[in-house]
Amino acid sequence: MSEQQDAAGRLRQLRERIHHLDYRYYVLDDPEVEDAAYDALYRELKALEAAHPELGDPNSPTRRVGGTVLPAFASRPHRLAMYSLDNAMSEAEWLDFVTRAANKLEKEGLPFSRSFWVDPKFDGLALEIIYENGVYAGALTRGDGEVGEDVTENVRTVRNVPLDLRPQAAKAGLPVPALLEVRGEVVMTRQDFYELNERQRDQGGKVFANPRNAAAGSVRQLDSAVSASRPLTFFAYAVGAMDFGGAHTGFETHSAVMAGLRSLGLPVAGEGRVVAMDGVYPYFTAMGARRQELPFEIDGVVVKVDSLALQEALGFTGRAPRFALALKFPAHEAETVLEKIDVQVGRTGVLTPVAILEPVSLAGVTVSRATLHNEDEIRAKDLRQGDTVVVRRAGDVIPEVVRVVPEKRPPGAKEYVFPHSCPSCGSPAVRAPGEAAWRCVNLACPAMLRRGIAYFVSRSGLDIEGLGHKWVETLIDKGMVRTPADLFDLTEADLLPLERMAEKSAANFVAAVAAAKGKATLPRLIAALGIPQVGTRTARTLAGHFTDLDALGAATAEDLTALPDIGPEVARSIREFCDNAANRALLARFKAIGLWPVATPKPATPAQTTALTGKKFLFTGTLPDLSREKAQALVEAAGGRVVSAVSKKLDYLVAGAEPGSKLAKARDLGVTVLSPDEFHALLANTGLTIQTRKSLLDT
Ligand code: NAD
Repeated sequence: MSEQQDAAGRLRQLRERIHHLDYRYYVLDDPEVEDAAYDALYRELKALEAAHPELGDPNSPTRRVGGTVLPAFASRPHRLAMYSLDNAMSEAEWLDFVTRAANKLEKEGLPFSRSFWVDPKFDGLALEIIYENGVYAGALTRGDGEVGEDVTENVRTVRNVPLDLRPQAAKAGLPVPALLEVRGEVVMTRQDFYELNERQRDQGGKVFANPRNAAAGSVRQLDSAVSASRPLTFFAYAVGAMDFGGAHTGFETHSAVMAGLRSLGLPVAGEGRVVAMDGVYPYFTAMGARRQELPFEIDGVVVKVDSLALQEALGFTGRAPRFALALKFPAHEAETVLEKIDVQVGRTGVLTPVAILEPVSLAGVTVSRATLHNEDEIRAKDLRQGDTVVVRRAGDVIPEVVRVVPEKRPPGAKEYVFPHSCPSCGSPAVRAPGEAAWRCVNLACPAMLRRGIAYFVSRSGLDIEGLGHKWVETLIDKGMVRTPADLFDLTEADLLPLERMAEKSAANFVAAVAAAKGKATLPRLIAALGIPQVGTRTARTLAGHFTDLDALGAATAEDLTALPDIGPEVARSIREFCDNAANRALLARFKAIGLWPVATPKPATPAQTTALTGKKFLFTGTLPDLSREKAQALVEAAGGRVVSAVSKKLDYLVAGAEPGSKLAKARDLGVTVLSPDEFHALLANTGLTIQTRKSLLDT
């Protein structure tokens, strides 16, 4: 095979893997690997892309901000895109960053003052909080950077987020901004995180991997009462759009903006300060030494060019600002003994080896288990029971076994042989050619059932309220549930004999299952099936193209790979699932009991050749009778895209009443400006039918 083919293959593998890990991390708030392992893959991808620019892909994870918007939330475009940050793992990388910035500024003839704002890099969930005329008007997650999830009600419950800036503004003698978008991070203290996990474990709820995921999961709740019950704290670190109506603010530096935010009553970390170039690394080192004293997790420090004029001149890449950099702390490592390798059975039958370690304290957390991923990983590292190993924790609490310390190997330690049978049911396990995992293929395996049904009822699946892990286990252990379909046959009389099951809980249980059946949508049901490699996003894609599970079952691998985001591996996995007799029987039962959602025909199929396919739109001012969301939906339905900033690449600026500064900028750049009437006329010329337009406007 040529080097080119090798590189293309590895690139595909890396992109697919990173997309999957991004999905677990940003969408499900449930990372599969620790950050250091993710970062290593990400860096490999970046290096390979740099070496092979001809194999570039606009959808590569290196070109965009990770994360997508969960369908359960209303989504809203950001006025100004929210970016990620590039990061440096060494002083040399930091100096490279300064050189790049200096070169760019020199080209523009701007002197580089080399004055920086530094503050801790909080490990939480990025938020944009919007104030209109000084009053809290909403909050959005970062989402994919351009469109975020509307978490207004949930963030309203975060206690240190002020809801009215006017009293503080009056006290500080500051003008009240007509618009102020405050950006920052919502975090949970380590102590609160441990306590929350204890409670979740007791109640059979979701246990979070780290404080970041706990904070993110608490904000991204459909029920704001749940968010309100979670101890969250917000820290502001920057601003988005600002409009002080021309009043003098003196905001010429980032540090002045931060001082302004503090005067307006916004929580800003006390550790932020301005330093000269030679103060950056000492600050980073000092913060690293203080890391464990802070009640919150931080995973580094962020350095920003302090001058706002220079920030603007440096601008952004597609993914990150060129004026800011995250200096990340190295992962924590320690030696301990690998007492035993345990093998667990996952939802899809995958046998996952887990290292049982002699407990060791790593960055203040006692670590006694670590995932070993698969047989190859154990072989590559030559891990043997009894070995002394190096374990590592990066910014989170999922630890990893890095390597063996060979000189400490006990005499007679035997090479580890991966079990070829399922540790739960004893049936033979298989390892398909080309796959890394051994799997139990016994569909009745109790361990698999437990995980599969727990997933079916979880938030990622049908979201059946109150059906926690404990009940799932009991029902399976008693033989009352053998497939997810059995849940729908349970009656109060069946449940009452169970220990700790009172009449009221039995009634609630049956009602929750019935309610879930009633509100099940096709994308949710597809996701709930737990088809390997099919998560919520792929489920949505599938439900957008097939009207029901029969139609999905009839699709060929070619039909499937023709859909966006579905590669041959995912298609194969879907086909395998649909071809399996037990799965077919399960679907037939769903149909018989009326759990058979039908997708509403997708209005958004743009005609192949609409005038708007691939065109970029931006809105400014108010459109008569049309909200931004609906205007955006119309553009997307016609195959266009709504972007967040004016640039030469913008195709149309739609200007309504009282347009903002975007109008002048668009005119300067020669972008076509449309009136609301012209916008509607343009839509009328696309493949969108009147019914589709009407249905989008009615929803
Ligand atoms: P990031 O978290 O590395 O950095 C960008 C974010 O930092 C910003 O969005 C902002 O919210 C935040 N931030 C915190 N303090 C800040 C401050 N003082 N000033 C400015 N911004 C501040 O980038 P990302 O794109 O959110 O995530 C990438 C990281 O997430 C990777 O380093 C990776 O380790 C981790 N990740 C892990 C997995 C996994 O599977 N474990 C998957 C995806 C991402």
